[in-house]
Amino acid sequence: MTPYIDIHTHNSDTNLITRKILNLLLHKIEQYEITPHSLYSAGWHPWYINKYNIDFIEKEIEKYSSLPNIIAIGECGIDRAIDISIDLQKKVFLLHINASKKHKKPLIIHSVRAYSDILQTLNEENYDGPLILHGYRGNIQQVRQFAKFNTCYSFGSAIMKSKKNASTLEQTPVEKLFFETDDEDISIEKIYLRAAEIRKVSTEELKKQIEINFNTLWRNELD
Ligand SMILES: [Zn+2]
Repeated sequence: MTPYIDIHTHNSDTNLITRKILNLLLHKIEQYEITPHSLYSAGWHPWYINKYNIDFIEKEIEKYSSLPNIIAIGECGIDRAIDISIDLQKKVFLLHINASKKHKKPLIIHSVRAYSDILQTLNEENYDGPLILHGYRGNIQQVRQFAKFNTCYSFGSAIMKSKKNASTLEQTPVEKLFFETDDEDISIEKIYLRAAEIRKVSTEELKKQIEINFNTLWRNELD
C-alpha cells in the first residue's frame, strides 16, 4: 500500500500508514528517543539560537547530521518575526548549509517573511543540493524564484484555511510537492484529502506521486 508521507512533523506517534520525517530540535535533543528504523531531520531552529554558543551549535549539528537515519538537515533558516538578529540567524543557517553539502542531505527550511533572505544566502553559498521549504506559504512567483535551486514545497494545514495558499498549491509543479503536519493537531490524511481536491486528482494518485517525489529526493541516501 502506498504510504502517506509526512515530510515534517514534531509528532512522534507512529502508525502503519504514514512514513514520516520526525523533526528533532537540537537544543533539546536529549528529550528524544532516536530509534534505528525511524526517519529524522535534525537542526537548530532559529527560535532557539541566541542562548547557546555558536561553536557548540556547530558541533551538535555536525554530530547529528552524520547519523544515517537523520536524512535531512533542519529545520533551520531565517525568521523575521522574532527578536533575534538576522546576522546571527544567517550564521547558524550557514552551518546547516555546510552540513547539508558535506553529508549530501536535503535542507528543511523554516522561513517567516524571509524568502528573499533565504534566496540570497543560497545564492551566495552556490548551494546546489536539494531543499524543502516547509510550511510553504509563499506565492507562485516565489515558487518560480526558488526553481533555480532543487526546491520542493511542503504544504500543511494552511491549505485548509487560506485560498491564497490553496491556489499556490494548485499551481506548483506536482513533482516538487510534499505535505506535512508540522506541530499542528491535524492528520496527514486530512491534508492529502484537501490537497487532492485542490489539485483535482484522487488521493491515491496523489499518494503515489508524493512517494515518487520522496524516492527521487532520497534515492542516493536510502538505497
Ligand atoms: Zn516545524
